[in-house]
Amino acid sequence: MEKIKMTTPLVEMDGDEMTRILWGSIKKELLEPFVELRIEYYDLGLPQREQTKDQVTVDSAEATKKYGVAVKCATITPNAQRVEEYKLSQMWKSPNGTIRAILDGTVFRAPIMVKGVSPVVKNWKKPITIARHAYGDVYKNSEFQPKGPGRAELVFTADDGTETRQTIFDFTGSGVLQGQYNTDASITSFAHACFQYALDIKQDLWFATKDTISKQYDHRFKDIFQEIFDRDYQEKFKGAGIEYFYTLIDDAVARVIRSEGGFIWACKNYDGDVMSDMVSTAFGSLAMMTSVLVSPEGNYEYEAAHGTVTRHYYKYLKGEETSTNPMATIFAWTGALRKRGELDSIPALEDFAGKLESACIETIESGVMTKDLAGLWEGAAPAKAVNSLEFLQAIRANLEKKL
Ligand code: NAP
Ligand code: MG
Repeated sequence: MEKIKMTTPLVEMDGDEMTRILWGSIKKELLEPFVELRIEYYDLGLPQREQTKDQVTVDSAEATKKYGVAVKCATITPNAQRVEEYKLSQMWKSPNGTIRAILDGTVFRAPIMVKGVSPVVKNWKKPITIARHAYGDVYKNSEFQPKGPGRAELVFTADDGTETRQTIFDFTGSGVLQGQYNTDASITSFAHACFQYALDIKQDLWFATKDTISKQYDHRFKDIFQEIFDRDYQEKFKGAGIEYFYTLIDDAVARVIRSEGGFIWACKNYDGDVMSDMVSTAFGSLAMMTSVLVSPEGNYEYEAAHGTVTRHYYKYLKGEETSTNPMATIFAWTGALRKRGELDSIPALEDFAGKLESACIETIESGVMTKDLAGLWEGAAPAKAVNSLEFLQAIRANLEKKL
C-alpha cells in the first residue's frame, strides 16, 4: 500500500513520562507505516521547556494558530516536587493553560465508548461531550470574611469616574462575602466555540445556567448565547439538522441522566468542572476520554484527558511490564488527522482516521485490552489483559485488515 500523503503540516506537541513513551510507539506502530506524516514538531517535555524558558510552549501555540490543527501529548504541570526532580529554574506554568490562553479556546471532552465497558447510567447509549467555559466566575473571585456587623456593598467605578453602588447585605454578625466576574468577550468566544463545534460534529447543543435566580449574571450568559445563535447559527443548525436547546441547570442535570446521550453539554466554569468529572466517571475511565481545544477562529488542539501516568512510568523505568491504555492518545491523533484531512480535502486521511478508530474499538470488543479496562470488562468474550505494546500490535493487525 502506498502511504497517504499530507499537504499541510500538523503541529505535534510531544510530552512527558509514560505518555511520551506511548507517543513514540503509537507513531511507529500505527501511523508512520501508513501515513507520510507532515509534522511541525515541538518538544513540550519538561526538560525542553526548562531549556527554552518555556518559549517552546508559546511557539507551539503560535504554530497551531498558523496551521490550524495540533495534537498534544500529556505534559507535566510542575509543582514543588517536580521543580526538585527536574532541577527547574522556575515552576513553569501548565502548558495547557498557556496554550488555552493563546488560542482563547474552549475544551470539549468526550468518552470513547466500547461494547463491554458500559456506562454506570444504563440508558446512555452515545457519548456526552462536555464543553466547559474555562474563564472567570468563582475561579477568579475575590473573597472576604467580615468579622462583625457592617454593610457589604458592590461598587463599580467607571473609567470616567462615575460610581454605581449597591448594597449586598447588612451584616449583624460575622460571615462570608465573595465577588466574581466574567466578560462579554469571553462568553462570546465560548458561545462561538460551542456552536461551531456542534456544527462540526453534527450534534445538538445544550446550554444551562441558573438564570431564574441570577437574573443579571447568569442571564447575561443566556442572552449572549441566544443573540449569537439567532444571528449567526440558526440557519446553519437547520441545515445540519441539529438543535440549540437552553434550559435551567437543574432541569439539564435531570434530562442528561434520563437521556441516551449523543449531544454537547455546554457548562459555565464551575458546572463544567463538577459535571465533567461526574460524566467521565459514569462513562467508565479517564483513559477512555478525549479532549479537544477549539478556538473561536476555528483552530483545533487534540489531546487525551488524562495526565502523564507517572506511576506506570516509574515501573517502566525499573524495567517492569506496563499496561497503560493508549486509547485516548490514539484518538487525539485520529481526531487531528481527520481534521487535517477535512481542511485539506484529503479523503484518504479522513478514511484512515476512521479505520484506525474502528480497529481500536474492535480490538477491545474482541476481548484484548489493557489492565485498567480488564477490571471494568463485562463483555461476552473473556478479557485478555495485555501490555501496552502488545495492545498496539493487536490494533495494528486489525488495522492492516481494513486497509
Ligand atoms: P494521571 O496521569 O491521569 O494518572 C492518574 C492515574 O489514573 C494513574 O496512576 C492510573 O491509575 C490512571 N490512569 C490515567 N491514565 C491512564 C491510562 N492511559 N492507562 C491506564 N491508567 C491510567 O494523573 P496524575 O497522576 O494526577 O498526574 C501525573 C502527571 O500528569 C502530573 O505531573 C500532572 O501535572 C500531569 N497532568 C497532565 C495533564 C495534561 O497534560 N493534560 C492532565 C492531568 C495531569 P493506576 O496508577 O491506578 O493504574
Ligand atoms: Mg475538577
